[in-house]
Formats: sequence, structure tokens, C-alpha cells
Amino acid sequence: MTTETTRAAVIHAAHDLRIETVAVPPLGAGEVRVRVRAGGICGSDLHYYHQGGFGTVRVRAPMVLGHEVAGVVEAVGEGVASVRPGDKVAVNPSLPCLKCRFCLMGMENHCLDMRFYGSAMRTPHVGGGFREVLVCHASQAVPADMPAERAAFAEPLSVCLHAARQAGDLMGARVLVTGAGPIGALCVLVARHAGAREVVATDLAPQPLAVVRRLGADVTLNLRETPDALAPYATDKGAFDAVFECSGSGAALAGAIAVARPRAVIVQVGLGGAETAVPLNAVVAKEITLRGTFRFHEEFAHAVAILARGAIDVAPLLTETLLLADAVRAFDLASDRTRAMKVQLAF
Ligand code: ZN
Repeated sequence: MTTETTRAAVIHAAHDLRIETVAVPPLGAGEVRVRVRAGGICGSDLHYYHQGGFGTVRVRAPMVLGHEVAGVVEAVGEGVASVRPGDKVAVNPSLPCLKCRFCLMGMENHCLDMRFYGSAMRTPHVGGGFREVLVCHASQAVPADMPAERAAFAEPLSVCLHAARQAGDLMGARVLVTGAGPIGALCVLVARHAGAREVVATDLAPQPLAVVRRLGADVTLNLRETPDALAPYATDKGAFDAVFECSGSGAALAGAIAVARPRAVIVQVGLGGAETAVPLNAVVAKEITLRGTFRFHEEFAHAVAILARGAIDVAPLLTETLLLADAVRAFDLASDRTRAMKVQLAF
């Protein structure tokens, strides 16, 4: 029997992204074969592309990138009843073991044996979804009756739904979003969806701010042009009930602490490149709750449902779609914040 193959976007090292032919694993019991249609390029894909990894995580062997993919079911393995050939699906890149201590505590995103697509966190690395044909566990193929380019937003939207859960009730809240990239932009949409009264977004570039303004941010502030633009919000101990810090910058976090009201919740969504100083005295004196947020679990199905019924419109985020063969050009475009919000690959 000849081995089936498929084309994929494979990272070898920093700035060494190749379109290669890789094997399609045989379809096992409980598995689903998906013909991938759309795949969004994420900030972590770009870290692998530009730096060969992030923090202590390094690409040590060639790895297929991508974890924001959607497509159509091509075949199902023995015992699969959740989807049928022809069904449109969003692929959940997260596969927790469901057996470890944290899975049993309902914290599947902290699984000790997590297999997450396109991640070099474990060795051997877990290959990603930027491939024409993908075999996944049936639980990862979530029915998503909508165009694939929309379904491919389920993963980043899940991240933001999980972040919003950390913030608590946002009904009537004044919300600050620092960093207006794709995750910041989706946090603006999620805050609006959750009933925020006012959403203010900051960034250092005008182009992403123009996008989030179209998405429904009430106020957008360019902190490169006007570094003290947040100052009015610091009066009387601060204005914001909740903050989503999406830039990963220590300066942005310090700025957020200054404008958060007493007992506000600041959700740290962005990953920092380095350790950063936190203004502890203000955290203490204002009884600020500073919370991290990491990936998602049950939010994925929720995100698919929200996108399917159009309750959150992500279309304005999609800058351009390029073919897999043009992946290098797509990654370069996605890296340019003045030109791109979300770039997708088509397969
Ligand atoms: Zn586990």
C-alpha cells in the first residue's frame, strides 16, 4: 500500500518556512479526515517564523504550523457518529488527555499531557493544521455550518471568550483593551457582545485602531502619537471596570493599572517577551485583581455557535487570503501590522 501524502507549510528554523509533501496518517478508529479549506495565521505561528520559537520553546525538528483551521470532513473512522463526510467543521487544535489531575479538575487547558497543534512545547512536536488533509480526533472536528474562512476564527475567538470569563460580568462595564491586534480586536467584539457600556482601545499604530473602531470600539487612542492619552481616565482612582491587556508589554500593563478603578479586574492576555516590573503599590492600594488567561476548552464549541449564527461578525478582521503555495508571502504580510490584521491561507 502506498502512503498517502499532502502538502503542508513546514517550519524548519527561523525564516525557513517550506511548502513540503508530508504523509497523511492512516485514519484510525475514532478519527476524522478533514480536507482543510482555511487557516488563520496567528501570532505564535509568526514567532516560529521569525524567531524559531518563543521563550524556551524552540523548533527542534521540522514542524507543520497552524492551529486556526476549518474545512470539510472527507472520511470518518470506525465508531465516529458526531460528523459525516461532507460536514463543514472547525478543527479544535487542543487535545487534552482528560485523565491527568488538571483535566479531572475541569482545567483541561492546563492538561499535563496536552497535544496542541503546531506547538513545539513538547518533543516530538505536535504538527499543525496548515496542510491540505488533516487527521484529527473526532472530538476536535466540531460541526460548523458556515464558510470555512469564518469558522477558522473559532480558535482565536475561543481565546477571547476564555479571557472574558476571567474578567467576570461585563454587562454595563467600562472596558479597556490595550493592543489592537487580532486578539485585542476580538476582545473588543467579545466585550461588546457581553454588554459593555464603553470600550476604549489603545495601540501604537493607526491601522489596527481603524479596524477596531469599525468593530465597535467607542474610543481609540494611539499611544505613540499621544503617550498620555489615557491620563484623563486615571482621575478619581481610575475609570475602567475591566481591562484586557493584549499587547504583552510591561508599559501597557503599568498604564492599565493606573487607569483601572479600585477592585477592577485586569486580564493579561498578551504574552510578554521578557519579565516585566509591575507597579505593586498601585495593585495593592486599589485592590486590583490581575489574572492570567491561557487558551480555552469548552469555549471552542461556544465560539463556533456564536460565529455560526453571526452574533459576532469577524469579517472585518480578515485582511487577505493567500494560497498555501504563497505561505511565505502570507507570513510576511501577516507580520506587517500597518497592512494586516488577520491573514488566512486557502487550501
Ligand atoms: Zn490532561
